Amino acid sequence: MINKLTQVKTRIQLAAKSANRNPDEITLLAVGKKHSAEKIRELHALGVVHFGENYLQEALDKIKVCANFEAIQWHFIGPIQSNKTRAIAEHFQWVHSIDRQKIADRLHQFRPENVSPLNVCLQINIDKEETKSGTMPEDALTLAREVSKLQNLSLRGLMCIPSRNTDAFTRMQELFNEIEQQLHLPHWDTLSMGMSGDLEEAVYAGSTIVRVGTALFGER
Ligand SMILES: *Cc1c(COP(=O)(O)O)cnc(C)c1O
Repeated sequence: MINKLTQVKTRIQLAAKSANRNPDEITLLAVGKKHSAEKIRELHALGVVHFGENYLQEALDKIKVCANFEAIQWHFIGPIQSNKTRAIAEHFQWVHSIDRQKIADRLHQFRPENVSPLNVCLQINIDKEETKSGTMPEDALTLAREVSKLQNLSLRGLMCIPSRNTDAFTRMQELFNEIEQQLHLPHWDTLSMGMSGDLEEAVYAGSTIVRVGTALFGER
């Protein structure tokens, strides 16, 4: 794992350098779906603390096994059904995949009072694909305005899974800036985009969290 981790970190550093950005602005989120808790343990021992999961039950099993890992942060990045919102609000520190008001309302409702607000991003269907989840770009400002009113959520930014990396990342950056200028949200600092195959392009366009599975863990 150490070789793969070194490779991924080097890619992030080189991309940041050519974009004239500070590599410390970019967080590596290790996406462990279909990989074991043992691999999470290995990566955590190498200093990775941010882990992303798509499937709730699989994630809850790993969260239990890794409960005492120092500083570990769990990010939910998969599609969210309403009946999963309670467990997500209780067990995760981040959610990247809010795509509608109802899901935000429920995460707010179920977030326990004694913990810090849940960090959330809005998932944008940036290429307006019929089969993809995410809110349409033209609806993002309205959704952001409403979600920012929920005090048990901390609205951090936007997330996308583009179909092809033409100019989707740049359009995300523009949308991110537009919402920033319109709403002046206090914690608006996150663009979650870029995966194993396209993290460089995402970093050029201002990504602050790259979500990397295959390049770290190998094939699923
Ligand atoms: C699986 C997944 C990733 C990681 O994809 P890789 O191509 O394996 O790096 C990132 N984001 C989301 C939402 C995913 O489901």
